[in-house]
Amino acid sequence: FEAQNEFSRYAFYHYDMDEQLMDRLVLEHDLHKALDKGELYLYYQPQVNLREGRIVSLEALIRWKHPERGWVSPGEFIPIAEETGLIVPIGEWVLRTACKQLKHWHNQGFSDLSVAVNLSTRQFFQRNLVDLVEDSLKKANLPPRYLELEITESMTMNVSYATDILAELKRLGVRIAIDDFGTGYSSLYYLKDLPIDCVKIDRSFVRHVRTNKHDAALIAMIISIAKHLELTVIAEGVEQVDQLEFLWKEHCHQVQGYLFSPPASSERLSAEYEELQQQSKIYCDQLKHVQ
Ligand code: C2E
Ligand code: MG
Ligand code: MG
Ligand code: MG
Repeated sequence: FEAQNEFSRYAFYHYDMDEQLMDRLVLEHDLHKALDKGELYLYYQPQVNLREGRIVSLEALIRWKHPERGWVSPGEFIPIAEETGLIVPIGEWVLRTACKQLKHWHNQGFSDLSVAVNLSTRQFFQRNLVDLVEDSLKKANLPPRYLELEITESMTMNVSYATDILAELKRLGVRIAIDDFGTGYSSLYYLKDLPIDCVKIDRSFVRHVRTNKHDAALIAMIISIAKHLELTVIAEGVEQVDQLEFLWKEHCHQVQGYLFSPPASSERLSAEYEELQQQSKIYCDQLKHVQ
C-alpha cells in the first residue's frame, strides 16, 4: 500500500514536470513570434516627486498579450527571454518605443517628463548597448537627460566592467538607476564609486514599513546613505497613505506605486495625464501638514 502510494506520488510528480516543461516550451515558442505579431506593449507607471507634487517620470513596463492565454506577466516571460537571448531584440524594441513615446508626449505638451527603461542582464553585457542607446535617442530626437536606465545590483558585481559601461552611458547624458535596491548582492562600498544617479528601494521593504520596525529602519538608512551620496531615492510599491507619510517624513524624493497609479497603456495615460497630475498634487499638498 505504502509503495503504491509512493509510486503514484512519483508518477504524479513526473507528469507535473512534463506538463511544466511543455508549457514553458510552448511559451518560449510563442514568445519568438510575439514581437513580430505585435503582441508586446509598453505600459507606463508614474513616478511622483513629493516636494514638487508632480509626476516627473514614467517607468516603461513591458506587457505581453498572448492570443490564447491573455496577459502574461513579465515576471513569467522576461526570464525566458533572458535565457533564450530573445531579450536582445525585445529590449531594443522597448528602448526605441519608450524614447519615441516620450518624444510624442513632449510634443503633446507633457513637459519635463522623463522615461525609465529596465535593462536586462544580457542587454547590459551586450557589446553594442551604448550605440543602441545613442541611436534610440537620436532616432526619437530625445535629449538624453530624459532617459533613465534601470539596472540591478547583480549587474554591477563585475565592478570594473560596470564602472566602464556606466561611465560610457553617463557620457551620453542619460541617467542610471539601481532597481530593486536592497534585494541583491549590493555592496555599499561600490555604491559610492559607481557612476549612478538614483536608487529605487525595493517594494518588499516598503510593504510593511508601518508595521515592521526593521523595515522602517532599513528604509530610513537607505534614504540617508543615498542622500549623503547625492543620489535620488525612489520608493517602489507605495500603495497606502501611511506608507507615503513615512517616506515623506524620511525625506524620500520620489515614489511610485498603485496609490498614485498602476502601470497604464500609453493611450490611457495620455487621456488621464492631467487628472493624475492633479491627484498627485493633492496627495503631496496633504503631506505638508504631516508632522
Ligand atoms: P520592476 O522594474 O521592479 O518594476 C516594478 C514592478 O512593480 C512592476 O511589475 C509594477 O507593475 C509593480 N508595481 C508597481 N507599483 C506597485 C504597487 O504599488 N504594488 C505592487 N504590488 N506592485 C507594484 P511588472 O510590470 O509586473 O514587472 C515586473 C518586473 O519585470 C520589473 O520589475 C522588471 O524587473 C521586469 N520588467 C518589466 N518590463 C521590463 C522590460 O521592458 N525590460 C526588462 N528587462 N525587464 C522588465
Ligand atoms: Mg524597474
Ligand atoms: Mg526589476
Ligand atoms: Mg523594482
